[in-house]
Amino acid sequence: MNTAERYQSVLDRVATAARAAGRAPESVRVLAAVKTQRPEAIAELVDAGCTLLGHNRAQELVEVAPALGGLRPGVNLEHHFIGQLQTNKAARVVDLVSCVHSVDRMSLARKLATAADSRGRVLDVFVQVNASGEETKAGVRPDDAVAFALDVAALPALHVRGMMTIGAHSSDPAVVDRSFAVMQELSDAVVQAGLDAPELSMGMSQDLDAAIARGATMVRIGSDIFGPRV
Ligand SMILES: *Cc1c(COP(=O)(O)O)cnc(C)c1O
Repeated sequence: MNTAERYQSVLDRVATAARAAGRAPESVRVLAAVKTQRPEAIAELVDAGCTLLGHNRAQELVEVAPALGGLRPGVNLEHHFIGQLQTNKAARVVDLVSCVHSVDRMSLARKLATAADSRGRVLDVFVQVNASGEETKAGVRPDDAVAFALDVAALPALHVRGMMTIGAHSSDPAVVDRSFAVMQELSDAVVQAGLDAPELSMGMSQDLDAAIARGATMVRIGSDIFGPRV
């Protein structure tokens, strides 16, 4: 399969999972996780109709985003940042993306807000939650997530769209489902708390179906679109 065919099969899988959950396929967007991919490979995906691109590393972003602009001039690409972000790289990232999915501490939120504000913009963000409790994972604790989201939303230059997580790293479907169920509850709680932040960024190649069953509105797909990372 080439990139376009793999992308189409991801769209089909998303639609099937959405319908199985009683949801409209259009209620889930596919973001392509482009880490380590060359601009030429990403351009093929853009030609297949995927214009929502997620970046993991600031250094890659500053190289890839302008290169893609050169390869596909006039195409309106939506760049998001989905990886762990060092505070000192926040301003450079703000210049190139419309949304950051990995806001997990107030120092980062403040840096992003300052950068967005000085550019006269409002930046979309997701609050990253460590729903599985795995030590290797970034994100705020589920118990702290609603209060943290409210604190972030109080910064006028940031717009909280919802919550983001990386599902539990487990071969047990029940364990994976539990991590997404936590997010579904947090999403309800944050809306209940008065924030207009109903989105859920969760689900990757391995677990997009489980994430959609628990309300994911944006899935982040890398290997199933580009092939396994080498
Ligand atoms: C790489 C990555 C993805 C995509 O993972 P795949 O398993 O390749 O689909 C999603 N989210 C984040 C934060 C990533 O780093």
